[in-house]
Amino acid sequence: MEAAKRIMRYGAAAVVMAFDEKGQADSIERKFDICKKSYDILVNEVGFLPEDIIFDPNIFAVATGIEEHDNYGVDFIEATRLIKTHLPHAKVSGGVSNVSFSFRGNNMVREAMHSVFLYHAIRAGMDMGIVNAGQLTVYSDIPADLKERVEDVILNRRSDATDRLLEIADNYRGQGAKARVEDLSWRDAPVEKRMEHALVKGITDYIEADAEEARQKLDRPIQVIEGPLMDGMNVVGDLFGSGEMFLPQVVKSARVMKQAVNYLQPYIEDEKEDGAKAKGKIIMATVKGDVHDIGKNIVGVVLQCNNYEVIDLGVMVPWADILKAANDHGADIIGLSGLITPSLDEMVTVAEEMERQGFSMPLLIGGATTSRVHTAVKIAPHYSGPITHVLDASRAVGVASTLMSDTLKDDFVEKTKAEYQDILEKRLAKPKSDSLATLEVARANKAVVSFDDYTPAEPSFTGTKVFDAYPLDVIAKNIDWTPFFHTWELAGNYPAILEDKIVGESARDLFADAQKMLKEIIDEKWLTAKGVIGIWPAASTGDDITLYTGEDREEALSTVHCLRQQVKKRAGRANDCLADFIAPVGGKKDWFGGFAVTTGHGIDAHVARFKAASDDYNEIMLKALADRLAEAFAEHMHARVRAEFWGFRADEKLSNEDFIKERYQGIRPAPGYPACPDHSEKPELFRLLNAEQTAGIELTESFAMLPTAAVSGYYLAHPEAHYYGVGKIGKDQVADYAERRGVSIEQAERWLRPNLGY
Ligand code: SAH
Repeated sequence: MEAAKRIMRYGAAAVVMAFDEKGQADSIERKFDICKKSYDILVNEVGFLPEDIIFDPNIFAVATGIEEHDNYGVDFIEATRLIKTHLPHAKVSGGVSNVSFSFRGNNMVREAMHSVFLYHAIRAGMDMGIVNAGQLTVYSDIPADLKERVEDVILNRRSDATDRLLEIADNYRGQGAKARVEDLSWRDAPVEKRMEHALVKGITDYIEADAEEARQKLDRPIQVIEGPLMDGMNVVGDLFGSGEMFLPQVVKSARVMKQAVNYLQPYIEDEKEDGAKAKGKIIMATVKGDVHDIGKNIVGVVLQCNNYEVIDLGVMVPWADILKAANDHGADIIGLSGLITPSLDEMVTVAEEMERQGFSMPLLIGGATTSRVHTAVKIAPHYSGPITHVLDASRAVGVASTLMSDTLKDDFVEKTKAEYQDILEKRLAKPKSDSLATLEVARANKAVVSFDDYTPAEPSFTGTKVFDAYPLDVIAKNIDWTPFFHTWELAGNYPAILEDKIVGESARDLFADAQKMLKEIIDEKWLTAKGVIGIWPAASTGDDITLYTGEDREEALSTVHCLRQQVKKRAGRANDCLADFIAPVGGKKDWFGGFAVTTGHGIDAHVARFKAASDDYNEIMLKALADRLAEAFAEHMHARVRAEFWGFRADEKLSNEDFIKERYQGIRPAPGYPACPDHSEKPELFRLLNAEQTAGIELTESFAMLPTAAVSGYYLAHPEAHYYGVGKIGKDQVADYAERRGVSIEQAERWLRPNLGY
């Protein structure tokens, strides 16, 4: 009574548990009696407002296997009905998740139980409840057979209700809402067919048991690999080749294959048998200075699926290690991968060294910045052995098997050589000089960027700002999913790709897996997001941008060296340079920004975990998601910079689609990308941001960022600032640039190699 009066004085409502000297009320009668007694005292004796009373008549677990518990759901629901009928204005609440306690670990069944329970309790008058709103299915979305059996349990409609729910509960184990009832009829087929089915469908659940059964059936363990497993993988290979299976499924097949092989390995070793004879041995490596390996890993998996032995040397591999491994293993083919432009040069070095050491094995070139033309013009002239550019993972097997074939190899090698020679000659014959304007002419044709009608906004701070452990759920909202599907070689744009006639089903499965892992990444904090942004007083000084220590713009802090387009332009088109979008020295006050963000901290432990389980699928998935999060983080920080930190668009209102199409004022060009292609400008940006200490991002000798899931770039605010490609530049600009950077022309040429137009 004392407590009730105090609550009243505070004007608060009160939750009243159905609880007395004998303990928690468990039957309808006890629940109602206790609530009625409390109600009478509170309303009639204390003067409590009845609408401020919230009864909690106790929700207990059902389907526990104890008969006395079977009616607990009904007890709560019916007690609620009595309370709402006889105790006017009082409210009813309850902790809902208790009811499904006996199905811990099976979220889909638990969610269905909560939905069914709430559906009936709300109809009986329940006003509120404690429930994880993110973990509720819609009542009408619950599959019919599950709903029926859950309803039997909650409403205590039959004595075998619990057993019947248990019978089907395992079919629904999994992520919740989307899991389907598995069709297990394939388990009736002979073991060889079952293994094929598991490989094609990527099902790991039974593969060890099946491998064991096959091992007992066949004479020797190796025959399981050479027989049913190889046969199954051949089916996978054929389906992939004919476009009926797509990359994500193939990678899942590989996971099944590897688990089976891992299971069989000890038996094979016991018998001192040699492993299955592979079609060929392939050395794979991401070249020195580069850290990107998603593409290489995918190619590796696809080759392994097709019975090639892949010796993966990892990332940042110096040429000497590649050549040594090729010799030590007696490799048949070397495959090089790289993503950033400096890797193109490193590949040339590998080719030169192979030539010098008298190698003759085929060299495969792949990765985002590589191309047939680059391979033909820049790499092929340095190596007399067979050399081929491989466009994507789906071509890798075709190329490898041709190169391993006694009958097809020579013809293919000769044809490719001739083709590359042709590309090279056409290149050499092309008159270059007249496609480029002189630097002087290009500068005279710079963009007429108006600073008369535009006054740069003053930022809220200058210097740097650091963000540690930035919330991943916030970042995830900015993910652009389209490139994610491209990583998996599924063509199309998100979200339309999910409904695509050809790849739709694959895309949906992949997307569901991605969502599931993304949730784990966020909930279990697999990754830590760290970032740093900077804004500095700035002015353009010719083709450079000078940053200053203070607003008086007197003492220089740094220089960002920009390159200018030099290709001859049609009338009305400018020769662009980033510096043109910054107010010239002595003009209006302007600023320039930079950023470096990563979502890659913490990834290694999880990659190691997947590697240990031979789970390429999840390893690639995690790396692809970490990359997506890094780009999303960059997008998110850019939005905050526009609206808040720099504030030149405090009024910005954009849809997610607008974001992805980058329909906003200002750009964030990244060093190494087309508008500012020189990766070697990154160390200075990193110094300004102190990015190594603040965000924990390091640069390799080729200026690749580590962790790999990282993005860095500049912020330019001018409304006319846009992305473009510098393209080819002339010797005059290279010399000018070398002087501005204070390095030799040879050094500048090394940095600018992909852009040299002479
Ligand atoms: N939303 C996409 C962004 C792709 S482009 C994603 O999630 O992957 C990624 C970034 O590359 C741009 O935001 C910009 O920083 C940089 N970029 C794009 N085109 C560029 C260009 N021409 N020059 C310099 N940087 C560029």
